[in-house]
Amino acid sequence: MSMSSFPERIAYKEALAIIRAKACERKLDSELIAIKRVDGRVLAQEVVAPISLPAFDNSRMDGFALRHADLAAGGNTDLHIAGEQFAGLHVDVALAPGQCMRITTGAPIPRDADTVVIKENVRERDGMLEVPPGVQPGADIRRAGEDVQSGEAVLETGSLLTPARISLAAALGIASLAVSKRPTVAVFTTGDELVEPGLSLEPGQIYNSNRELLMGLLRNEGLEPVAWPTLPDDPARIETALRDAASAFDVVITCGGVSAGEKDYLPALLGEYGEIHFWKVKMKPGMPMLFGQMDKALFLGLPGNPVSVLATFIALVRPLLDGLQSRVEPRVRVSAQLSTAWNKQHERLEFLRGLLEYGPDGVLRVRPNAADASHRLRAAAGSDALIVLGEGVQHFDAGTVVEVLVY
Ligand code: AMP
Ligand code: MG
Repeated sequence: MSMSSFPERIAYKEALAIIRAKACERKLDSELIAIKRVDGRVLAQEVVAPISLPAFDNSRMDGFALRHADLAAGGNTDLHIAGEQFAGLHVDVALAPGQCMRITTGAPIPRDADTVVIKENVRERDGMLEVPPGVQPGADIRRAGEDVQSGEAVLETGSLLTPARISLAAALGIASLAVSKRPTVAVFTTGDELVEPGLSLEPGQIYNSNRELLMGLLRNEGLEPVAWPTLPDDPARIETALRDAASAFDVVITCGGVSAGEKDYLPALLGEYGEIHFWKVKMKPGMPMLFGQMDKALFLGLPGNPVSVLATFIALVRPLLDGLQSRVEPRVRVSAQLSTAWNKQHERLEFLRGLLEYGPDGVLRVRPNAADASHRLRAAAGSDALIVLGEGVQHFDAGTVVEVLVY
């Protein structure tokens, strides 16, 4: 394929739609996993409650279970302490009139009791309990099914398994869950100039920083990416390595070598040994982003500039990973006010680095970092979000509400 047949840059929205469609075509299977290992995974089944929560009426407090009808309207009431009912122990006794029972938090309510009075509000003497007036009927009882009714759907297919959701499954007695498989990801960094941190630099060389960036971003997604040693700008070496990886991994991510330079071999390689879905997206940074497929793998060619890696990862790689895992639940969306005015130098969609902070008025603001060039790694390190500055607009007043992508 001639690379000149790929001149058109597509809009970010279009790129995102292609990414989502290709991910959908290659959705990963599900697997049954023990709940102790499912955190961060995408649920591949609906969870229907096999029991109610609470499963039985139980005490909300440490105190005494009693019959509200026994209590005197105006003054104190003396009740006989008939026994004890602790959590985990089911005595299954009924309370006779004038009796109460010592009870702990979570213990089943004895039959015929309808109210709990807390320990701190009563006085105990010689096997008797003195209850002051004013106890509300039904007080401090947690009713069976008030949280979850047996048979109710409580977790949806495609949602993210957070600790709270996993613990809900555990509370329902569920020991394993069907989750989407994790994509396997191969990571390549390319460039004759790259040297491993810890070694010494010759003139003209730089340290490979993108590998750590990419590996960290992928691990933050809960993946276990595999990184190759740096590839030189040698088309034969790149071809061998990429074709190897593409035969075994779900996703191949490269960085560098996707622009129009003499040593940018990746678009032509992908065109020859795979298929290009798009090359070049109208966004800044990250414009030369390359996407396609090769053998078993979806192929993402990220530009080499560090901030381009960050922006394309968040804007396009993350949606691909979500799609492959059939994640339906959207990412949390955040918007904030620009704390200072900003002028773009172009009309393109821009992902600018910024720092989120709450003002004394409680309003979330984002402070753009003036170092907006795509090699300014320090600005990215000093920020915590990408500010989405939409297409077509160039001037943004201070106070404009903008979407931010937290990283
Ligand atoms: P390229 O897209 O290969 O032309 O690279 C664009 C810029 O990113 C150049 O300045 C490269 O030196 C730099 N670069 C490429 N790969 C890396 C990397 N792994 N770590 C740090 N900088 C890189
Ligand atoms: Mg390069």
